[in-house]
Amino acid sequence: MRFQQTIGKAISVSGVGLHSGEAAELTVHPAPSGTGIVFHKVTSGVPEACPATIQCLHPTDLCTALSFNTFQIQTVEHLLSALAGLEIDNVRLELTGNEIPALDGSSAPFVSLLLGAGIVEQTTLRTYLKIVRPITVERGNKSLSVYPAPLQKISYSIMYDHPLIKSQTYVHHASLPEFQRNIAPARTFAFKEEVEGLWSRGFGMGGSLDNTLVFSDTALMNETGLRFTDECVRHKILDLIGDLALLGLPVIGHFVADRAGHQLHAELVTAINANPDSWILINTDGEGNMTSVAKDADRNTQASTADQQHPVYSSF
Ligand SMILES: [Zn+2]
Repeated sequence: MRFQQTIGKAISVSGVGLHSGEAAELTVHPAPSGTGIVFHKVTSGVPEACPATIQCLHPTDLCTALSFNTFQIQTVEHLLSALAGLEIDNVRLELTGNEIPALDGSSAPFVSLLLGAGIVEQTTLRTYLKIVRPITVERGNKSLSVYPAPLQKISYSIMYDHPLIKSQTYVHHASLPEFQRNIAPARTFAFKEEVEGLWSRGFGMGGSLDNTLVFSDTALMNETGLRFTDECVRHKILDLIGDLALLGLPVIGHFVADRAGHQLHAELVTAINANPDSWILINTDGEGNMTSVAKDADRNTQASTADQQHPVYSSF
């Protein structure tokens, strides 16, 4: 059995948003069991909150955004990936702007900050969403599936017509050390020929060689070089872990992605949520005896707990 976790003390970090180019300060606070991951900010003098769940999902092809009424936050995936990878269930996130700071374009700085705050076990059991029937979403030659499996595993393949990327496949067996060492440091990437197009659409305004791997026709423009020869596919896994966090529970299953991205990630998250016959809820991560949890009872319990702590939940 595993218990829910939060952090030991509040931590803050400042930086520029990758797409907006705007500076923002993020503060992560500990939160009680059953809270989940909830963003808070003050918009036009009015405090607003938005849980990092599918109900607020506002996917784009370049990043994952959350929106509810006037509340909008861009590029949540690298932070959510760090929280999911470290198995942190409950935090209150306060943001002064509209986009999470990009930092170095990976999840590694968030991982360092969160580990520095300490991970604290709570008294409520962790609930896992265990896939029992396969689900697939497709767009043209891109696909993303999830299959029943004893633990969480992600097999991701990408293919780009670029000599430094070409075809890359990486298989991630989910664990905290694997995430910390092999996934969290992988940075976001872009192609030089796309950058002006991104700017014209209002994306990538805060992008630089300090927070993005940029590939020219034949080379990598960052003097620091790659952290891994297959850093791009590892970053795709980082993004998927962050997008899956919007289910609100850790998922047990084998994810198989072929040339996927944020849109397919969002479609699979939506499909999982819409097909409750394809999963069960259990209180073990697969290493112990399986203990089933009633779906309605569990979700209602979590929702009612959140209602008491965050009145905005009643709006969903
Ligand atoms: Zn990313």
